[in-house]
Amino acid sequence: MSTFPARAVVDLDAIAGNVGHLASLAPTSEVMAVVKADAYGHGLVASARAAQAGGATWLGVAQLAEALTLRAHGVTGRILTWIFAPGAPLESALAAGLDVSVGAPWALEEVVSAARFSGRTARVHLKVDTGLGRGGMFLDSWSAVLADALRAQADGAVEIVGVWSHLASAEDVTSPVTDAQLAVFVEAVARAEAGGAHLEVRHLANSAATLVNPAMHFDLVRPGLAVFGLSPIPGRTPAELGLTPAMRLEAEIMLVKEAVAGQGVSYGHTYTTDRATLLADIPLGYADGIPRAASGVGPVDVDGRRLTVAGRVCMDQFVLDLGPDSDARAGDVAVLFGPGDDGEPTVGDWAEATGTIPYEIVTRLGARVPRVFV
Ligand code: PLP
Repeated sequence: MSTFPARAVVDLDAIAGNVGHLASLAPTSEVMAVVKADAYGHGLVASARAAQAGGATWLGVAQLAEALTLRAHGVTGRILTWIFAPGAPLESALAAGLDVSVGAPWALEEVVSAARFSGRTARVHLKVDTGLGRGGMFLDSWSAVLADALRAQADGAVEIVGVWSHLASAEDVTSPVTDAQLAVFVEAVARAEAGGAHLEVRHLANSAATLVNPAMHFDLVRPGLAVFGLSPIPGRTPAELGLTPAMRLEAEIMLVKEAVAGQGVSYGHTYTTDRATLLADIPLGYADGIPRAASGVGPVDVDGRRLTVAGRVCMDQFVLDLGPDSDARAGDVAVLFGPGDDGEPTVGDWAEATGTIPYEIVTRLGARVPRVFV
């Protein structure tokens, strides 16, 4: 039993099932499960293995360190990593058999020298910025880097495995931005193939595009949020998209005590009891990733009743007003969110209440909250 009186319970079968569902929506594509940011807060290694069990043939992580952690835990299979800065230890990436993204001229230079230094061929995915305005090369510098990459391929330093890009507005199926990005992507791929690249994978689709836009699927889809059963599309629930949320966040009530009417609660007394009542302390706070914006609005289930955070979220705890007639006592479990099957709040509810997106609710969950895998 953990000493920490709260836990994120992660349903690994749900992760595997979600990957299977996503694969069925893109039947001619492979699936890269994106497990960056500690698998969106769900626990990197266990989630990665669950995704593989569900049919993911690739894993994707932003940070090189995350990819090396997967290998250190014996995770095999293709892994792509795309965030590293000049001077990063790319030899260790190549030694670990990782695929690396090249999204800038300096990155190609460093990958080529790491390959020459270590006597290995680097598997690279050239990243084109099709319109996100973030990572990758715009089309006007694409051909020059492509030419350098093809020369390095002829020398055996690199193998151009993929061309890839990331979408800006995939969740909005009517967005003309996505069509424009697609056109640039097709052009970038055509130039690579005309130059002699034999691409193994062309990939563009995140969760939203995997779920609702088959034209973006290409050889490989790259979902993250949907792997964990959460909806990337505002207004559409996971169930409507055939997904099962994998995480349930719960905490033991630490203390239940009687309070008189007119009692100010938590810092700044932004909440005051309007009658004699029972107050409960919940041992999770903003240090654990509970948004301070949940003060006064975060939904929590106690014994099947939907309550709201009373007053401000503190660093390690927050308070609930149970009402005068509650039977709840210290040790009972409060559920912040779960799949919603038993009426408990969902990650979507938390995102809506706190003015953010489901991505932020799960990825910000603190490292000290134990992940329990079921
Ligand atoms: N590909 C890249 C490059 C990303 O940065 C991300 C996450 O932001 C993903 C894929 C997965 O996106 P999503 O979680 O929306 O599926």
